[in-house]
Amino acid sequence: MAGRLHRRLGGWGFTGENFPPTPELLAWLTRQIGPAVSCVPAGAEGSQLPRPRPVPHLGCGVSADEPDRLAHARGQGLPDILRLRAGAVPAFPDAVCWPKTADEVAGVLARCDSAGVEVIPWGGGTSVTGGVNVLPEDRPVVVMDLSALAALESFDERSRLATFGAGILGPALEASLASRGYTLGHFPQSWELSSLGGWVATRSAGQESLGFGRIDDMVAGLEAAAPGGRLSVRPMPGSAAGPDLKRLLLGSEGRFGIITSVTVRVRPLPSNRTIQSLLFPSWHDGMDAVRTLVQSGVPLTMLRLSDPPETEVAMAVGLGATRAAGLVRRYLHIRGIGDGACLLLVGAAGDPQTVRRTLRQAGHLIDGSHGVSLGTRPGAQWLKDRFRHPYLRDALLDVGVATDTLETAAPWSALDDVRQSVREAIAGALEGAQERVAVLCHISHPYPDGASLYFTFFFRVATDHGETIARWAAIKRAATNAIAAAGATLSHHHGIGQWHAPWLEQEAGSTGVAILRSVAHQLDPNTIINPHVLLDPMTRLEA
Ligand SMILES: Cc1cc2nc3c(=O)[nH]c(=O)nc-3n(C[C@H](O)[C@H](O)[C@H](O)COP(=O)(O)OP(=O)(O)OC[C@H]3O[C@@H](n4cnc5c(N)ncnc54)[C@H](O)[C@@H]3O)c2cc1C
Repeated sequence: MAGRLHRRLGGWGFTGENFPPTPELLAWLTRQIGPAVSCVPAGAEGSQLPRPRPVPHLGCGVSADEPDRLAHARGQGLPDILRLRAGAVPAFPDAVCWPKTADEVAGVLARCDSAGVEVIPWGGGTSVTGGVNVLPEDRPVVVMDLSALAALESFDERSRLATFGAGILGPALEASLASRGYTLGHFPQSWELSSLGGWVATRSAGQESLGFGRIDDMVAGLEAAAPGGRLSVRPMPGSAAGPDLKRLLLGSEGRFGIITSVTVRVRPLPSNRTIQSLLFPSWHDGMDAVRTLVQSGVPLTMLRLSDPPETEVAMAVGLGATRAAGLVRRYLHIRGIGDGACLLLVGAAGDPQTVRRTLRQAGHLIDGSHGVSLGTRPGAQWLKDRFRHPYLRDALLDVGVATDTLETAAPWSALDDVRQSVREAIAGALEGAQERVAVLCHISHPYPDGASLYFTFFFRVATDHGETIARWAAIKRAATNAIAAAGATLSHHHGIGQWHAPWLEQEAGSTGVAILRSVAHQLDPNTIINPHVLLDPMTRLEA
């Protein structure tokens, strides 16, 4: 519980931190969606919590106090924040527990299974898919906060393997490795607040996935506990001993058990991180450059290409107010780069010599692709602010603008069609309400065979929080339908949770879903762990 006290409720991060919008960004938003008509007051004091229902003795630290129940009721999706701010959370856990060992986790599950109590695993609570949300239930609900399982359990330097308790958060994990000269290299934007177990349970991807891989590539072994038994997958460099059971836990979101420890592959800590930035005259020029670079195998750690509206916003946030911006714009104009410009960030990590060599190699590969270098300053600024950007969402709500993100992935041959159809779906989703939606998009996780597309959208807050949530749901539904119709994936890295679950069968097929359901039944026959994520959706998006 300690250390969580200064976490902000009904918003991102820590109290006292902020990332206010620049006047240029606010002006851009007004041009795109119109002037704000209402705002969402901050604070989450209004919630009325019902009396907690009794839960059995759980054999570990437990609280039924209101602040703990409120802090563990919802994740970090936009509707979660809106509900918390409005004091309109529909359900709360009856208790929160903090097991300290894998045996305690197994003990809680056994007791809850016998007593018919639901258990929701909570890593950092940063889910943006409704993954940790408590729903109104007939059964009592316990949230199992895994933050006390956060130790470095073993470090095998010779094999470059480290085993951590699953509840460890990003900064503590990296600090522990850095003190030994190593890194995991997994930096999702939620890194400060998300946990190793949560990353595995949702198959997350960090911002430098190009160089370090996604979490799937980093997991060498793991341990999990479920009412149906305990699973231990020893770390192996490779194995052909049947299907890979650790892969079964990746993306299982609690349905196949609670991950208690994870062995990860670690790498030497790079002494240098440099991000080169370039502007391309068009999205297609930029996309071709990204594909060329990733298919060449040059050892970059990051490629992130913004579409023209996102580039415009990046300029508004970063360069817009400065005198340098005018000079940059004039220079770009001379070089033939105008309104359709796309910003590409190209990252490399290692010792300074390796970084220089890698960036030079990348530069040669896309020489002649019409890119104009902006140097390393925009990338350095991005690196400095990358974990502060999420605070912008709260600051925008304060002034009446709602913003959220969603993501997908597809092969290169389909990528642009997917981008166009999802963009159009989002942009037109509120036409019936005569509201406009501004949409930004970037490629941030490229592979030789395709890439992810990450969309950010903005719309006006309504006078009533229920109507704002309905607007969000209309956008989310339209975008997810477009993603499914285009044959792209429901999620590249946010997972399925409650909100994507109604579409899973379209992607996995009925046999695929039946397999997942039978595994869940084997491990959790009474369906007590997080029963509404991944399979068996119960919610409409508005819930
Ligand atoms: C501002 C912001 C930025 C984000 N950026 C990224 C990003 O860059 N990349 C990315 O991949 N995601 C991102 N996310 C989404 C989110 O952070 C990830 O899904 C993350 O992996 C969740 O980790 P967590 O520890 O917070 O999990 P939680 O939110 O606590 O849980 C997520 C799901 O996993 C289950 N779960 C958690 N721990 C365990 C466990 N030990 N065993 C079994 N099940 C468990 C939960 O029940 C839930 O279903 C972002 C979210 C926000 C709010």
